[in-house]
Amino acid sequence: MTKVVLITGASRGIGRATARLLGARGWSVGVNYAHNEAAAQETAAEVGRAGGHARVIKGDVANEADVIGMFDAVVKAFGRLDALVNNAGIVAAGMPLADMDLARLQRVFDVNVLGAYLCAREAARRMSKDRGGDGGAIVNVSSAAARLGSPNEYVDYAGSKGAVDTLTIGLAKELGPQGVRVNAVRPGLIDTEIHASGGRPDRAAVLGSQTPLGRPGSADEVAETIVWLLSDAASYVTGALLDVAGGR
Ligand code: NAP
Repeated sequence: MTKVVLITGASRGIGRATARLLGARGWSVGVNYAHNEAAAQETAAEVGRAGGHARVIKGDVANEADVIGMFDAVVKAFGRLDALVNNAGIVAAGMPLADMDLARLQRVFDVNVLGAYLCAREAARRMSKDRGGDGGAIVNVSSAAARLGSPNEYVDYAGSKGAVDTLTIGLAKELGPQGVRVNAVRPGLIDTEIHASGGRPDRAAVLGSQTPLGRPGSADEVAETIVWLLSDAASYVTGALLDVAGGR
C-alpha cells in the first residue's frame, strides 16, 4: 500500500529534499507551500521523477482554515494520511531582542509555533486510532537554536523552536497509545535559502566551517533523518529530539 505524507513548506530547502526522498521510496506527497508556486511545482515534478506521486497544496500554516483545507486536500487526493512532516518555518532579520518589533515577533511565533501546533492537531485528528485513523508518524522540524538560544540574531526563532521541542515531547506521550509516533529533528547550519531571508546568505557556509564536522549540512542530509524517523525502521522511536547539526 502506498503511504501518504503531507509536508509543510515543501517548495524549497529541507521540505523539498524530504519530498524527493519520500518520492523515491514510493510515497504519495502533499507538497505544501505559501507563496512560491513555481518552486512547489518543481518539487512535485522531482517527486514524480523519483517515482512517487505529488499534489501541490497552497496554504499558510498560520491560518487555521488554510491548514484544515491542506489536510482535506491531501486526503481527497490520495485517500488517506500516514504522516506529517511539520517543516514550514521562518526567520526574520538578525538583531537583539531589544530591537524587535511586535509585527516580527507575532509572525515568527504565528508561523513557527501556532502553525506547527495547528498542523500537528490536524494530523492527530486524522491519524489517531481512537478517531478512526490507522496510526502514523509525525516529524517536527525544530532547530539546534532551541538549545543554543541564538543570542543577538533571533532569540524569537530559538524560542519558537523550543516550543516545537516541547510539543514533540508532549504529543509523543499523548499519541503513543493512538499508534502515532512523534519525533523532532533539530538541524544545525543547513545550506538553504532560509539564511538569505534572515539577511545573511553566507551564514551556513561561514558558521558551518566552525562546527566539529567543518562544514554546513545539506538539505538531503536532514531529509535522510526525517525519512528514517517516518519509516518502520524507527518503529520504537518516539518523543526523540534528534540533532542533525554536525556536532554543533
Ligand atoms: P527555506 O529554504 O527558507 O524554505 C522554507 C519553506 O517554508 C518554503 O517552502 C516556504 O514556502 C515555506 N513556508 C514559509 N512560511 C510558510 C507558511 N506560513 N506556510 C506554509 N509554508 C511556509 O527553509 P529551510 O531551511 O528548508 O527550513 C525548513 C525548516 O527547517 C524550518 O522549520 C526551519 O526553521 C528549519 N531549520 C532550518 C535550518 C537551516 O539551517 N536551514 C536549521 C535549523 C532548522 P514558499 O516557497 O512558498 O515561501
